[in-house]
Amino acid sequence: MRKLFMICWALVLFFASPLFSQSIPMSPEAFKESENFVDHFDEVLPLRAWEIREDSIRGWLHWRTVENFYYGKDRGNLPMIADLGALHPVFRDKVLEMIRICADRGIQLDVVETYRTPSKQMEYKRMGRRYTRTGPGYSRHQYGLAVDIVPLINGVPQWNNYQLWRKIGLIGEKLGFRWGGRWRYLYDPGHFEYAGYVDLRKMANGEFPPLAGSNQYPCLNEDLRQLYVKWKSLDLHQTNLYQEDRIRIARKESILRESSSPGGKE
Ligand SMILES: [Zn+2]
Repeated sequence: MRKLFMICWALVLFFASPLFSQSIPMSPEAFKESENFVDHFDEVLPLRAWEIREDSIRGWLHWRTVENFYYGKDRGNLPMIADLGALHPVFRDKVLEMIRICADRGIQLDVVETYRTPSKQMEYKRMGRRYTRTGPGYSRHQYGLAVDIVPLINGVPQWNNYQLWRKIGLIGEKLGFRWGGRWRYLYDPGHFEYAGYVDLRKMANGEFPPLAGSNQYPCLNEDLRQLYVKWKSLDLHQTNLYQEDRIRIARKESILRESSSPGGKE
């Protein structure tokens, strides 16, 4: 009997509930606005230059690359990675600051190279001491902690404008970078790198030490882990390209040798 009473009471409450709740009628304007909001909610917002385009492991496929001679200089056959998303996030934001400060002072900077694969480093090493004195794994480019830039005037790279380089170099040094324009044996004014100590051997194994300013990046470890995976995929890709290129060069050299040797062929 008591059970039956409870069930009846529950049914009464259930059917009478709309009487207790008060619905607030929506004005036609508010309704239209909410419709608009729903319409635009899934719209893709335009990307800004400093946002990493894709967060997947294969995101490196979309990184901006620069082909040889694009900035008027011979920089080897392997494409250069010129995407800011390929840099260590803490370092990348400093680079962006440098680009912004230079832009405020009327200096336009273009990014020539950011992350560099060990194969690309090897290619520079083979190209001679004019390019690098550092072997694969020993340049901070291999850890996203170095960048090469060039100033442009009316779209023309200013490689020999020493006055302009000095201005940019001083801006970079104020931000805490080590500037290649100070190096005597390989004057490299377009090169800026993280100046603090880093254990390269640990970084080669994917262990990133906290850099100055890292504490302001709550997701840094996860970002670095993803970045490291992308670097490794890219390394593999460029290693293959590099080997193919070496084979091509070796073949060309042997053809030249054969054709120049006396009485080689009949
Ligand atoms: Zn460099």
